[in-house]
Amino acid sequence: MNRTERTVDVLVVGAGPAGLALAARLAQAGAGRVEVLEREDEAGGMPRHLHHGGFGRPPRPWTRGPEYARRAAQAALAAGAAVRTGVSATGWAGPLALETTGPAGPERITARAVVLATGARERPRSARLVPGSRPQGVLTTGELLQSVHRFGLPVGRRAVVVGAEPVARHAVGTLRRAGTDVVAMVTEHPRAAAVPGVPLLTATTVGELRGRGRLTGVLVRHRDGRSGLLACDTVVFTGDWIPDHELARRGGVPLDPGTRGPGVDASFRTAQPGVFAVGNALHGIESAATAAAEGAAAAAPVLAHLAGAPWPEPGPPLEVRAPLVWVTPNRVTGTAGRPLLLRSGEALTAPVVTVRQDGRLLWRRRAVGRLSPSRSLRVPSVWTTRVDPAGGPVVLAIG
Ligand SMILES: Cc1cc2nc3c(=O)[nH]c(=O)nc-3n(C[C@H](O)[C@H](O)[C@H](O)COP(=O)(O)OP(=O)(O)OC[C@H]3O[C@@H](n4cnc5c(N)ncnc54)[C@H](O)[C@@H]3O)c2cc1C
Repeated sequence: MNRTERTVDVLVVGAGPAGLALAARLAQAGAGRVEVLEREDEAGGMPRHLHHGGFGRPPRPWTRGPEYARRAAQAALAAGAAVRTGVSATGWAGPLALETTGPAGPERITARAVVLATGARERPRSARLVPGSRPQGVLTTGELLQSVHRFGLPVGRRAVVVGAEPVARHAVGTLRRAGTDVVAMVTEHPRAAAVPGVPLLTATTVGELRGRGRLTGVLVRHRDGRSGLLACDTVVFTGDWIPDHELARRGGVPLDPGTRGPGVDASFRTAQPGVFAVGNALHGIESAATAAAEGAAAAAPVLAHLAGAPWPEPGPPLEVRAPLVWVTPNRVTGTAGRPLLLRSGEALTAPVVTVRQDGRLLWRRRAVGRLSPSRSLRVPSVWTTRVDPAGGPVVLAIG
């Protein structure tokens, strides 16, 4: 089938909170034809499947996910953006041209700016290298939510949840509401918050999945060498989020080794001129409010690009040292802007954050708040004006 060729001003891939917030701002500002592509049959992204309250900002911070998603989609449409559902961006036909498939058949859409707002996904069991058989009943939280809320499919009778972070607790709630008994939560971390009524196995990993056809049990191993078999017909692997970076990778957009999303500067510019990235596509899971704020904040740099602003050379890279695992943005260009998001692989309370370039101390401060593997810390970017643009990597560390 022949591809239809079209041009637009801004092409946003992904109609989640980030992509929709950006599209609304751009359309409102008169950016020309702003088109959002969404592979699912409804716009709104992940919140569409999250039926608990907890979305939005005051005075309505307890909006439920589906309502939040609906409002975000309506705002983009009301501002004049085109939101096309059932359309997937599958590859690149040029630096600013995407190939798509959808109800209208294959298309090639060329834009003046492309924005990747593709969200994040959990790494599936295969990527976690869990040995054992390949039975049915092995899910990620995303798959669980889709099964229950989108397709109304039955889950199993007894489930084990792997993980104990906030998303794992949502998985427990979803399973219980679906009538499934949660027999245990399993986490490799030495400490975690328990869910009332669910046994919590800390410092424990999944050694093997058992069962032919359907899952019959999960073999778990404690750090002290003890092991045991948990009888269950469902296991949900939660957490371990990774940006949905497939499209970026196919387009040769350089990824950051920490976040594994497209590397960006403080203006959401990737290393590929005209290509921006926002939301969870940059860093794995954050709140919908954070994703939407990033989308809204990207509008000004996208407008500047449309108006002919030069695409700056990427400045010095931002790097982290263990136990930190990632920082975003990942490159320093221009002056101070929005705060950085910093994530640690270990729980730390009020740590001292240092920023150095070529051994020179640029900034040092005891952070207010807590860093954990499931919660980022915001770090001011006032020190970026002290960065030598011709210098080496800028290194963030704890201590
Ligand atoms: C269990 C759970 C509970 C949560 N609870 C809360 C909460 O209480 N409060 C809160 O604020 N946040 C919560 N969140 C987080 C929130 O849902 C996300 O941070 C937010 O949805 C991220 O927005 P996004 O636009 O970056 O990505 P997403 O919402 O993931 O949207 C990305 C969109 O891009 C589309 N897409 C991807 N690739 C393509 C492609 N190639 N072509 C076309 N379309 C594509 C996807 O289909 C998707 O719709 C929760 C998340 C989970 C998993």
